[in-house]
Amino acid sequence: MELKNKRVLVVGLGKSGIAAAMFLRQQGAQVTVSDARSATALAKEIPALLDAGIMVEAGGHGLLTFRRQDLIVISPGVPLDTPEVKQVIGYGMPVIGELELASRFLKGRIVAITGSNGKTTTTTLIGKILAEAQLLTLVGGNIGTPVIDLIPKSTDETIDVLEVSSFQLETIEQFRPWIAVVLNITPDHLDRHGSFENYAAMKTRITELQQADDFLILNAEDKPTQMVAVKTKAQIFWFSPRRPIKQGAFVHGESIVFIPREGAKAEPIMPVAEIPLKGSHNVENVLAAVCAARLAGVPAEKIRSAVTSFKAVEHRLEFVRSLHGVEYFNDSKATNVDATMKAIAAFPGGVHLILGGKDKDSDYTLLVPLLRERVKAVYTIGSAAEKIERQLHGVVKMVEAGTMDAAVREAQKVAVAGDVVLLAPACSSFDQFENYEHRGRVFRQIVQELS
Ligand code: ADP
Repeated sequence: MELKNKRVLVVGLGKSGIAAAMFLRQQGAQVTVSDARSATALAKEIPALLDAGIMVEAGGHGLLTFRRQDLIVISPGVPLDTPEVKQVIGYGMPVIGELELASRFLKGRIVAITGSNGKTTTTTLIGKILAEAQLLTLVGGNIGTPVIDLIPKSTDETIDVLEVSSFQLETIEQFRPWIAVVLNITPDHLDRHGSFENYAAMKTRITELQQADDFLILNAEDKPTQMVAVKTKAQIFWFSPRRPIKQGAFVHGESIVFIPREGAKAEPIMPVAEIPLKGSHNVENVLAAVCAARLAGVPAEKIRSAVTSFKAVEHRLEFVRSLHGVEYFNDSKATNVDATMKAIAAFPGGVHLILGGKDKDSDYTLLVPLLRERVKAVYTIGSAAEKIERQLHGVVKMVEAGTMDAAVREAQKVAVAGDVVLLAPACSSFDQFENYEHRGRVFRQIVQELS
């Protein structure tokens, strides 16, 4: 891809947008960036961009800005139906995302992980297992380091482990992973994708360009994920915590085993009991990671030692503290109903659940069976509180807490030894917090200060 003297517009100045703009400039492109946020809100970002010789448009997108370009690079946070974007797509202007741009320059083999939940955990885990086996491993994508920032370190020898979201997959063209993982497809981001079908179709795109010498790892227990199997040319490896698989990883008795091809003998990998993470969903993440690692040639003992020393990623069912026999867990990253269900299911009972935040057109009634079975009380916070209270009325004791502080304190008052206070809010955080990390930190701090 020749970028020298090309006019490129980067829309959206998040972490990946800024990284893309800087990279394009280094490649000799004439770069403009445009963001709907005001110049004041972008005061921290703008000087470095201007210093690099990048033109900046803040506080909205001018239509002319979009017209005078050879290429548009759009950030995952910017919907494709933003009027200006829609219009230029209509004119036939090439519009790609940072993942696509980066993948055209990235060297090495790509392992890409997508799914509604578990991406960060599984991406981190695969990265750790490959590194344990001394493979040259780079980790990036939606997880924090933009893919574009991996380019200088990538070589023909590296394995590039990338977390990719549905928003990033929306704008791929030539992105072709060597190993693709689809962990699960459950309703999320319906406010942006419009319908579950559209959302599932985006996840399916991860395998669109895979060929017969590539691998696709899929969850045998997740129906929508199985639709991805129909669309692929890659070799499919399944994983299941429940039943034997012909080719892939599964739980056999007390152990995780892997079958490298149909008809082959099952290879023992490790005992399930050695997985240090809570919840059956994490067994699924480990099974997916086992498939990826074995396909990359990592021996079982390296997988076992990497998994057994793995710690929960921050804000993912992270243990905070135990006080008077009550355990406090921070699962602030449970930003959708499915993740919250998995979090509740990780505990046998006695759960005090903090729920709420910014609603994403979610159906909270899906929580009802688990609430009845394992939850003592729900403490609502944020703007979704009213909807949650309406949908879950009469199911379980409901405390209208409003704020995180009140929720934790109300829960502490009634929780008894053996109970769990769990932040797994099923909503995004933007109504009361900067992001889910901020929400998790606030929860942790309040819990640490309890006496
Ligand atoms: P993602 O990057 O896809 O958001 P994370 O690993 O950050 O995934 O986890 C997000 C949330 O989903 C957390 O609340 C976590 O406990 C939960 N979770 C992790 N793995 C799974 C899984 N396989 N299925 C369902 N929920 C999961």
